[in-house]
Amino acid sequence: MLGLMSDQPLLISSLIEHADRYHGKTEIVCRLSNGNIERTNYNSTHKRSKKLAKALLKKGVKKGDVIATMAWSHTRHYELYYGISGLGAVCHTINPRLFSEQISFIINDAKDKILFIDIEFLSIVESLYDQLTSLESIIILCQNSEMPKSNIINNLLCYEDLLEEQDSSFNWPIFDERTASSLCYTSGTTGNPKGVLYTHRSTIIHSLAAAAPDLFSLSAKEVVMPIAPMFHANAWGIPYVATMVGAKLVLPGRLLDGKNIHDLIVRENVSFTAAVPSVWLSLFEYLELSKNKLEPLKRCVVGGSACPRSMMEEFYYKYDVIVIHAWGMTETSPLGTVNVQLPKHLNNNKKEKFNLATKQGRPMYGIELRITDDKKHILPHNGESFGDLWVKGPWVCSGYINITNSETHSKDGWFLTGDVATIDEDGFMHITDRSKDVIKSGGEWISSIEIENIAVGYEKISEAAVIGVKHKKWAERPLLIIVKALETEVTKEEIIAYMNNKISKWWMPDDIIFIDELPHTATGKIRKKELRDKYINYLL
Ligand code: AMP
Repeated sequence: MLGLMSDQPLLISSLIEHADRYHGKTEIVCRLSNGNIERTNYNSTHKRSKKLAKALLKKGVKKGDVIATMAWSHTRHYELYYGISGLGAVCHTINPRLFSEQISFIINDAKDKILFIDIEFLSIVESLYDQLTSLESIIILCQNSEMPKSNIINNLLCYEDLLEEQDSSFNWPIFDERTASSLCYTSGTTGNPKGVLYTHRSTIIHSLAAAAPDLFSLSAKEVVMPIAPMFHANAWGIPYVATMVGAKLVLPGRLLDGKNIHDLIVRENVSFTAAVPSVWLSLFEYLELSKNKLEPLKRCVVGGSACPRSMMEEFYYKYDVIVIHAWGMTETSPLGTVNVQLPKHLNNNKKEKFNLATKQGRPMYGIELRITDDKKHILPHNGESFGDLWVKGPWVCSGYINITNSETHSKDGWFLTGDVATIDEDGFMHITDRSKDVIKSGGEWISSIEIENIAVGYEKISEAAVIGVKHKKWAERPLLIIVKALETEVTKEEIIAYMNNKISKWWMPDDIIFIDELPHTATGKIRKKELRDKYINYLL
């Protein structure tokens, strides 16, 4: 027997409709590329999203069409999130930091029909234009007076002109909640990026879960600034969650250096933010030099790469900010686990608290985790056995677009993450490596992440990467690659002495290399493949 509750579908348009109705005057603030601040609110942004939807209909956009964006985090991009998905079309957010061959691959793979871009990305699109097979029009996110000229693309359109032609009388269509809503490609460190296609349903229930007290704990009282860009797993879902709870939303645009981020936090009273560790490194450098504080900020989510213990301590002791360590993937919408302590940890001392906080956290309701060995046997959750991490849940992808036989998806709904992890008795998951980065020395595994986290705890080290390189006797040995902190001198001997009692002897790197800068992927992770390719024979 079926129940008698309303079968109303969970649609993304309902988020902005709700924010307009009940939090209409709450601000949305963004920093434009020229540094200026632009202020609006949920009332007018909703109106503009509706105008956009009407403009898209007029251009012949139909349900299921893929409409792409290549833009920083700002209000027009936010309008696109709602205007495109609300119509039943798919909002494909492209990461402009990908290699140009990857960008042309994903535009063609997704069959993007219209592309909305910030002015600064015009030259990227021009350079690829002759390879793009599906695009019908390109719309520049600017005013008419700012419209650029192109010698290569002759029918560029202006975003504000399109909106101006429309009024905002529009009712969002109602359709199946399993309809595709948005599309995001993985950053593809090996091979082509893979397309993850979210649904309205997955987005709404991910937002409900993320807002809950033991996760992001968000409400209308917060001022929320996602620094994770809107092209990286939908800014970690924050533009949806903030809208759902009616929080003031601050979108930081292109200028993500320490000075500009600090300025926004103080000026706009930002209480909650989220970014990868490399963003915080540059913020800390700026704060150190300028002797500034982070007063309004209370909590910040760190994910995308492991958050070193030293970073959590610096946030806590110097700036009075609590780090929420979280793990997720483009494939998991992205939230999978969040590190929130249990009642039994309340009396832990600071050392025990920080020890626990370095783990990636426990699955929220809806997410299941398991680890398996090389033969796919399930391993116990004892905090010691480590193996391949699998994840399952209603906001985890069931496949990739245009790939029929994905080896990473099991028939019973599990997704193989590519991470290697332990899970303890309380469900706290701890990532030791990406499976491709694990170092196998004499048949035993060494965690590169753990050595890196210890290395960056040394004040003279700004960033560290550990890779496995070929070794005659042990097959592979760890090599530590270091970027020194600004204006410091440091020796190999000093670093080894620092790490001496912190890792077991056989984990100690065989050598240390100093370089000026580590290569990063388009989403801010260290590009270890590039380092391995360069240094693989270093010890031979
Ligand atoms: P992406 O899809 O670009 O967000 O990358 C997802 C991958 O980032 C995961 O599979 C992990 O390897 C890594 N990752 C995300 N969060 C964390 C974290 N808190 N600690 C360690 N690695 C992480």
